[in-house]
Amino acid sequence: MFPARIEHYARPRTVAEALAALSRCEPGEAIFLAGGQSAMQAIKSRMLRPQALVDLQAVAELKGITLTGGALTIGAMTRYADIARDARLGGAFGALTDAASHVGDRQVRNRGTIGGSVCWNYVAACTPTAVLATGGRMNLGATSGATRSLAADDFLLGPLETARQDDELLLSVSWDAPAARTGSAYAKWGLVTDALPVIGVGVSVTQDASGKCVQARVALAGLAGGAQRGPAAEVLLMGSAGDAATIDAAFAALAAEADTHSDLSADADYRRQLIQSLGREVAQRAFDRARA
Ligand SMILES: Cc1cc2nc3c(=O)[nH]c(=O)nc-3n(C[C@H](O)[C@H](O)[C@H](O)COP(=O)(O)OP(=O)(O)OC[C@H]3O[C@@H](n4cnc5c(N)ncnc54)[C@H](O)[C@@H]3O)c2cc1C
Repeated sequence: MFPARIEHYARPRTVAEALAALSRCEPGEAIFLAGGQSAMQAIKSRMLRPQALVDLQAVAELKGITLTGGALTIGAMTRYADIARDARLGGAFGALTDAASHVGDRQVRNRGTIGGSVCWNYVAACTPTAVLATGGRMNLGATSGATRSLAADDFLLGPLETARQDDELLLSVSWDAPAARTGSAYAKWGLVTDALPVIGVGVSVTQDASGKCVQARVALAGLAGGAQRGPAAEVLLMGSAGDAATIDAAFAALAAEADTHSDLSADADYRRQLIQSLGREVAQRAFDRARA
């Protein structure tokens, strides 16, 4: 289908210009365009009918990956391809590179951005789930000049729904410096390798000097409720040595508790099996990275 008529197009070069372009529109009239990998499909199908587009491609200050004293900041317009190939992002941030390396196909990874993915927050998206598992924060700037920072748990509200207000631009996603012996991982499974998954699992763990797990975050993609934590697995991983028996029990408990659904891609039982098998594999990799 052809898109509905779009009245205005702006291509700002700075964050200030982007927010100024947004403030010239009525609330809800304009949308930002990042990689366009979700927005353009939604505009063509008329699911989105913006009056104005504010294209962020030329805003250099929204791009790039900064590591300072272990703390990580990724600009909202940083592409999957740049995250996937950044050799500094192993260990505690391994879930981010795992997710970015396997999003869609090469074209999607070369255009799609971390900011677009978390702001779209599609039900089965990989990056929101990896950001949730690793405890990222969303840093937002508003047309009023106000800024705020929200934990992923408070930002990702449900499928295609976030806490971002219409007058806000996502500036970056950031993480505090991780504790020693922290590792994370993400994996997805789908009917088609180069597309959104049926189920995705992200895990982050921290071990103390004796090998005891002192921090565990588990997140799932592909449930009807969108990216969400898996407390049933987190509780069992905490305090454990990250051994195979505990990991098995943790993901069996999560699979039993998860609100899975049936659709054309997979039935509810199959989704439960995927949570168990992928969860085992991902948690093992997260513990291996924590020990490395
Ligand atoms: C063929 C194909 C396969 C795919 N496979 C996968 C997959 O395997 N895994 C997966 O997770 N995803 C997959 N996707 C979705 C992909 O990840 C999209 O790129 C992503 O959802 C959107 O990122 P974008 O940069 O393209 O954002 P856009 O599509 O440009 O924007 C998406 C939304 O976010 C808003 N937005 C963007 N940036 C900002 C900002 N800085 N501040 C405020 N709002 C903003 C826009 O206004 C828009 O509403 C696939 C897409 C395609 C086309």
